[in-house]
Amino acid sequence: MRSRIAVHCALSFTASAVCSLGSAGSLIVVAALLASTCGPAAAAVPHYQLDVVLDPETRLLQVDGWIAIPPGRTLAFRLDPHFRVQRFDLEGKRVAAERTPDGTTVHGPVRAPPEHAVTVHVRYAGELAALQALDHRQVLGLAEPVCGPEGALLPAATGWYPQARGERLTYRIKVLTRGGFRAVMPGRLVQQADSSAGNETIFESVHALPGIDLAAGPYSVREQKLALASGREVRVRTYFHPELAELAPGYIESAARYLTHYDREIGPYAFASYSIVSSPLPTGFGMPGLAYLGRQVLRLPFIRATSLRHEVLHDWWGNGVVPDSAHGNWAEGLTTLLADYAYREEHGEAQAKAMRLRWLRDYAAVAPERDRPLAQFVSRRHGADQAVGYNKTAFVFLMLRDRIGDGAFRAGLQAFWREHRLRTAGWQDLQRAFEAQARIDLSGFFEQWVERPGAPLLEVTDARRSLASGQHRVSIVVRQQGAIFRLRVPLRIHHEHGSIDAAVEMRGPQVRADIALPARALFVEIDPDMRVFRRLHPEGIAPTLRQVLLDPHTRVAVAAPDKTAREAALSVAKAALESGVKLLDPGATAVDTPLLIVGMHAEVKRLLERLELPERSVPGAEAGSALAYAWRTPDGQPYAVVAAADARQLTALARPLPHLGGQSYAVFDGARSSARGLWPAQSRRYPVTD
Ligand SMILES: [Zn+2]
Repeated sequence: MRSRIAVHCALSFTASAVCSLGSAGSLIVVAALLASTCGPAAAAVPHYQLDVVLDPETRLLQVDGWIAIPPGRTLAFRLDPHFRVQRFDLEGKRVAAERTPDGTTVHGPVRAPPEHAVTVHVRYAGELAALQALDHRQVLGLAEPVCGPEGALLPAATGWYPQARGERLTYRIKVLTRGGFRAVMPGRLVQQADSSAGNETIFESVHALPGIDLAAGPYSVREQKLALASGREVRVRTYFHPELAELAPGYIESAARYLTHYDREIGPYAFASYSIVSSPLPTGFGMPGLAYLGRQVLRLPFIRATSLRHEVLHDWWGNGVVPDSAHGNWAEGLTTLLADYAYREEHGEAQAKAMRLRWLRDYAAVAPERDRPLAQFVSRRHGADQAVGYNKTAFVFLMLRDRIGDGAFRAGLQAFWREHRLRTAGWQDLQRAFEAQARIDLSGFFEQWVERPGAPLLEVTDARRSLASGQHRVSIVVRQQGAIFRLRVPLRIHHEHGSIDAAVEMRGPQVRADIALPARALFVEIDPDMRVFRRLHPEGIAPTLRQVLLDPHTRVAVAAPDKTAREAALSVAKAALESGVKLLDPGATAVDTPLLIVGMHAEVKRLLERLELPERSVPGAEAGSALAYAWRTPDGQPYAVVAAADARQLTALARPLPHLGGQSYAVFDGARSSARGLWPAQSRRYPVTD
């Protein structure tokens, strides 16, 4: 099945949900684990030195090790109560433990005096839960470490090691895996060796990380050493299930290319390695230097081209510089711009423009009460967060680049990376970095786009032509509604011999521009290339099937010659509509609610004529047996047409149609959609009068 690609990824400030890679049929979620605060690498944080033994056959986990508590700190440690604790000692004395109401065991608190660190010795063991097929929502809430023949996953949030809440930490972890398993985790691979006892791997992180995430599986490991321009050597590795081995060289090549690119464009890569790990779960986690992706997901062709690039770039924005949670997550939008949008830009302006249009269209669907300033976005919880936190943020960075120029934008990002690498930083730090490079005051820009919600709604309220002394002119009034944005508004003026582009500076609700033309003016477009973040007028948005299928007020008109066809039509309507079938009054000659017309081609055509609705021609329709499309009445009511050659072909649409809501049209061959798409956007045209 052909999939439309959507990449949504969020860095969460708690150990929970995050990036999701959606395709038409399935939703796969990738999580990144980030804590709310992040000090520089040298900050006084606890250091863990653990010896871990993991046996996938018995699912037995044994841990023996030491936790160093920095001078002057008092820490309590939570541990999953399923483990049998053999030691939890401070200087030979057992540390007190108690069960908490939420079912975990808390050991401590343990105090380190101001003069020196203290070390706790821990030893515990237990059987891990069996890995089962979970859907992605369960995985996001993965409450306990799991292990099975296909792999083991021990996320930090599950309490598989003694955890001091909210504390970042450094570590050196030795993992002995049996049964052909290999372990992988964020950090530098210090050592890796096979012996009769199993595979022994040591990972070390000198950077303070939010937790210890450990994965293991029956992996074949492939590695390439990558020399970066910054003089560093990075080990790029794949840990893939054997059936994915043939994909490994391609993934390594792509990851190496992205690392090289961003290392050169932004600044030296901060981590020692980059690993792509296949997950037996339909999910994954993004961690510093590591992408843990579902083994089915890895087979999808677009993952390498787009999602992997996005995940790699998070090692600069998100894992490398951590957004300051109190003042908004800028990292998703910046990553979206420099990975997802950059990919479109590299494939031509048409693709880039289509993405900008999609962002504006998604934003137009955000209810005003769900809109909020970028400074308040933390992570993605619903669709509005995607439209604002990811897309609007990306668009704002794009407008900033347009405003200060490519050179200053790039230099600003490089300076921001130099100053805040492996630290926390917020919007104000970004503003300072760009102001220093561009040498202009950007406070107004950041105030209106980051601190305030909303976007301008622009329109031409008057456009008049004149001719004096042989010179054609046009006088245009542009207005914005609601809160005032200071904007440079691009205009395209079409005249009898072509068009010219101009721009007006808006400082208030209205501005008048007077423009000389080589010929008589015909009409005007506002921002035809979509370079200003704004609310689109409804007619600027291509109708989609969803507008009809989801609306609780939608009426159904059946256009069928006989009982069999009528039943087929009703079954399709029932499957496609969110709120059940409510029939249009049979005598109706006008449409005052959203309408679904469903039936046979000839009868549908006659019904459209009776209702005075235009029939659209659908690209690729000649090759299919059935089609569906959405359009709107002259009054702006959305309607959808679903038509087939016979009852059997119509019935076949019941399954695919509900999944095509995001399309303007689709053509079907049986139950398979052979063509689909969005109508091209119609930029609003304002006629010029005398
Ligand atoms: Zn992301």
